[in-house]
Amino acid sequence: MALSDYYGRRVLATQTTVPAEPGVTVMPTMEIAATTVRCLRCNTVSNKSEAALPHQQYYCRHCLQLGRVSTLAQFYHVAEPNQFPVQRQPLSWHGQLSPLQARVSAVVCQGMANHQRQLLWAVTGAGKTEMIFAGLSAAIGRGERVAVASPRVDVCLELFPRLQKAFTGVPIALLHGRQEEKYHYRQLTVCTTHQLLRFYHAFDNLVVDEVDAFPYASNQALLFATGQAVKKDGGLLMMTATPGPVLLREIRRQQMAVSYLPLRYHGHPLPSIKEILVGNWRKQLHRGRLPVAVHRQLKQWVATRRRFLLFVPHVADLEPVANEIRKAYPNLQLKTVYAADPQRLTKVAAMRQHQVQALITTTILERGVTFPGIDLGVLGADDPVFSSSALVQIAGRVGRAKERPTGNVCFWVSSCCRRVNNARRQITALNQRGRRLKNELSIM
Ligand SMILES: [Zn+2]
Repeated sequence: MALSDYYGRRVLATQTTVPAEPGVTVMPTMEIAATTVRCLRCNTVSNKSEAALPHQQYYCRHCLQLGRVSTLAQFYHVAEPNQFPVQRQPLSWHGQLSPLQARVSAVVCQGMANHQRQLLWAVTGAGKTEMIFAGLSAAIGRGERVAVASPRVDVCLELFPRLQKAFTGVPIALLHGRQEEKYHYRQLTVCTTHQLLRFYHAFDNLVVDEVDAFPYASNQALLFATGQAVKKDGGLLMMTATPGPVLLREIRRQQMAVSYLPLRYHGHPLPSIKEILVGNWRKQLHRGRLPVAVHRQLKQWVATRRRFLLFVPHVADLEPVANEIRKAYPNLQLKTVYAADPQRLTKVAAMRQHQVQALITTTILERGVTFPGIDLGVLGADDPVFSSSALVQIAGRVGRAKERPTGNVCFWVSSCCRRVNNARRQITALNQRGRRLKNELSIM
């Protein structure tokens, strides 16, 4: 292993492997108390009995998939030396930010320069990634080590080529669990939040995208890893379109600097949600019928050749709903898709290439997927599988194209529900903020 492989990392080594190279610090892996042990990589505390190995040794079950942390092993570490060639103008992106994006970008850039803990709350379709380019560029120019992390592999896979294009002269590392490639020391890293568990005081600035996405928001180990991966005086920028309850509380208590971008890149507000009561739709489905209100909307979409997404709560709902729609509209090109669907990618591609007019789906398409100019409905939006955040994300699939910045968002529900109300309220509040901002900008 090259010495640089230890820079800002916690490399797991067992006592049987070669001794540490000169300059490498050896760090303990576990903290042992009277009845419990604590893993120093993921911070999980376990009872000794659960974590026991023979001969009074212990291990951590929680972060096993990254290699077993045990009292038989140590971490090798070298303090991050920031050994990078200085690049004055690393940004090769020459796109244009809207005046609003530019304003937010400047605030984010300043926060990163001050190594602040900050949140960027930008609506879906605001163009978040472009708004952090200036901040990343300045950080790289200062010789800082920087990472952009996301809880989701597909977000990392999408981000990596975009950053490569935007910073052509900067070698970038891409790290995630599904990959075979060896680790390399790089100034800029794109990785899943799980990979942060391998870092220790590495980054001068860390950006975490989609902080509300599963499993990050409620995973104590990942939150701990985030804190550990950043240098003691490092900055943390969190980004989201739909902050969860913990972040919302911090925002309300003003414990964090927040930048808002309540308007989309095309300057239009979010489409508002139309909530429609349809009674017990599953019962109606059993009798071979779709609710009348759903029919009415489908008829309109089919007649106007509008492309649409129809979300249902569970995989088991997909076929019954699809069958009823096929019966009523035999000429409609329609497919169902779910997370473990082996043809998921081809079906999504077919929708993208206009070979299909509609997709019936579960929550997997709630974020990250963009089909310009679509409408959408959620049948059973009051089902507990849809959190308020998920509902805001789903509604955010609509109106993303400049050519059609609006669209229909229908939530068909059996009864009124708090999560749906919260989602509607969040969208209304963001749109109010957006209107105020537009007024301010026109005065400026
Ligand atoms: Zn652990």
